[in-house]
Amino acid sequence: MKDFIQSLPKTETHLHMEGALPWDFMRELDGEKYAVPPASWEDGYKFRDFAHFEQQLLGHALEWYTTPERYHRAAAKVFADLAAQNCKYVETSFASGVMEFLGVDGKGIVEAINAAAPEGMEVRVFLGIHHGGLNEAMLPRLDEALGWDGLAGIDLHGVEEIPVGEPEIQFWKKARAAGKFTKAHAGEFMGAEFVRWAIEELGAQRIEHGIRAIEDPAVVELIKERGLTLDVCPISNVKLMPGITASNHPIRELFDAGVKCTVSTDDPLVFGNQLVQEYAMLHQARGFTEAELVRIARAGFEAALMCDAHKQPFLDQLDAVSCSA
Ligand SMILES: [Zn+2]
Repeated sequence: MKDFIQSLPKTETHLHMEGALPWDFMRELDGEKYAVPPASWEDGYKFRDFAHFEQQLLGHALEWYTTPERYHRAAAKVFADLAAQNCKYVETSFASGVMEFLGVDGKGIVEAINAAAPEGMEVRVFLGIHHGGLNEAMLPRLDEALGWDGLAGIDLHGVEEIPVGEPEIQFWKKARAAGKFTKAHAGEFMGAEFVRWAIEELGAQRIEHGIRAIEDPAVVELIKERGLTLDVCPISNVKLMPGITASNHPIRELFDAGVKCTVSTDDPLVFGNQLVQEYAMLHQARGFTEAELVRIARAGFEAALMCDAHKQPFLDQLDAVSCSA
């Protein structure tokens, strides 16, 4: 099964560049302090809550990500690690918070990440705006970001419980009018109703996580009706979401209900996970067969913001595998 998973052409469509920082770079900052990875890399680790997770993530990542050049170096290593797992297409986001709180040049970050894409891999860069991030001070700068050529789209990040509303709805609309693809994190901490809001009000074209949609069959239907894909991160969910374990992770139920799901790693800096392990977990803990894993990989290319001519060879390859799986 390990070889089978490795052989599949794959996508990674839910990856935070801050949360993907390779541990070697932390060691470079302080070899003693960061001699060993955190306890959250261990199997069975569970964060107390989102604040606990965010504290660890920011505590590490913000020490490193202080310039576009550092984004470039980190992205190059992240993409090389993914390429070694036969990943062919990556969507990655960076946090508007680094512009807001660290004053890093956002346009420079977009260019730096795009320039790090290795041959044979297509990369799309997203700007992640946290709940509360569309404030008066940031709005003009975020408006300007919608004009950046190298920016593929935007994503809603951060603490789901912090209220969002009309400003986000208007900005997401503006982003689509500017030709940007719009995503949103939803259904990780807030329930199915927030997934509904992200689809119906915000108009998000892809949902990051979205797994709590399973709590309301009407929202599952809505996702299917709209033909939307969920970018699910199983290991992240197991380590972070209350009540979610490998053996009860709802990706099985969503998949069986006909919802298109991809798998990705979210924040490997914090979870210590690899893309191939996400596939392995689906097989080991939720009984996904080889043919079903092919459908997961296929969903990634179907959802990918690649031109048809570029995605077709990978779809053909996966179809050929599924005939023999
Ligand atoms: Zn995420």
